[in-house]
Amino acid sequence: MHERNCVQFLIFLHMDVSTFETMVTKTEQSRIDQLDQNNIQFGKLYSDHMLVAYYEDGAWKQPQIMPYGNLSLSPATSFIHYGQAIFEGVKAYKDPEGNPAIFRPYENFKRFNRSAHRIGMPDVPEEIFIDGMRELISLDRDWIPTADQTSLYIRPFMMAVDDFIGIKPTTKFMFMIISSPAGPYYADPVSIYVDDRYVRAFPGGVGFTKAAGNYGASMFPMTQVRKMGYDQILWMDGIEHKYVQEIGTMNVFFVLGDTIVTPGLSDTILEGVTRDSVITLLKDNGYNVEERDLSIDEIVDAYHAGNLKEAFGAGTAASIAPIRALTYKGEKLELPPIDSWTISPWIRTELNDIRYGRKEDVHGWLYRF
Ligand SMILES: *Cc1c(COP(=O)(O)O)cnc(C)c1O
Repeated sequence: MHERNCVQFLIFLHMDVSTFETMVTKTEQSRIDQLDQNNIQFGKLYSDHMLVAYYEDGAWKQPQIMPYGNLSLSPATSFIHYGQAIFEGVKAYKDPEGNPAIFRPYENFKRFNRSAHRIGMPDVPEEIFIDGMRELISLDRDWIPTADQTSLYIRPFMMAVDDFIGIKPTTKFMFMIISSPAGPYYADPVSIYVDDRYVRAFPGGVGFTKAAGNYGASMFPMTQVRKMGYDQILWMDGIEHKYVQEIGTMNVFFVLGDTIVTPGLSDTILEGVTRDSVITLLKDNGYNVEERDLSIDEIVDAYHAGNLKEAFGAGTAASIAPIRALTYKGEKLELPPIDSWTISPWIRTELNDIRYGRKEDVHGWLYRF
């Protein structure tokens, strides 16, 4: 009797695991001929397939890859009302021989589940997030562009899909992955407004997650700043409005004298994969890097002393975005001419050489498939 129970248990386990095998329905009509390699407009075109997985009754169901298409949802679907939704941003690249690779997807996988935990959503298993992503991008590998500095942007996301407008812990979730070709990002140096009024994140809040609401809440300040002629906001801490945090949706680095300073991690800062890659490469190459509290006053003082040498944002979308000026309380801090910079261009080239397989991947950051 005991033995039989064990066998049944094993069979049950086996069935449970096998449900993560992705069911694939291929498109009958690829749209790949709509992709103009020389004129890629980010977010205009999505690859042929998408991945969808449902969570219900306390368990993930079999993920499915199917032709990219619209969703049909009840107007009472909970995330639409209460914003219980999270996302990730990952990129796939091709090396000079055309072999595809995804850059550090396990970091996004771990961060996604940190976001999921804080927003009250179930963990997504590796078999769905990583294996599903690999299967999807493998199927749509022709959508990874090959022209210089192009990539395929991969967007995993999850939302609460209970068909109920009462506020209560959700029980049904939907995880999806879509992807969109991204053109070369010519990082025009950005002009930054240092915001001492609006705040992106608070201690105890959700700033360290890629929760949808964080981005919704930044739209108004962003629009105001754009109207004033700036490209991005440098957010400061929510309590003293004094310590710098991030720019827009990028982590931020300042070169002060011969030291590179970036705000230390906390629950108000998104732990960027690019940030980590930049810090690792800088340290590998003997640069002084400090992760610590950095006040706007320290930056203004460094500027007046001629020590503010370079500043840049770092994120998957833009890679490295040089900052040409910062405006704080009416004073415009103009950085030295970009062509005199050494560190930001070096780190940008270094990162790209690894991503595009032109340089040895000593840290094992490329996930090949
Ligand atoms: C996504 C994001 C970043 C950058 O993270 P990467 O993993 O490097 O793309 C930084 N700050 C915010 C607020 C973000 O949403």
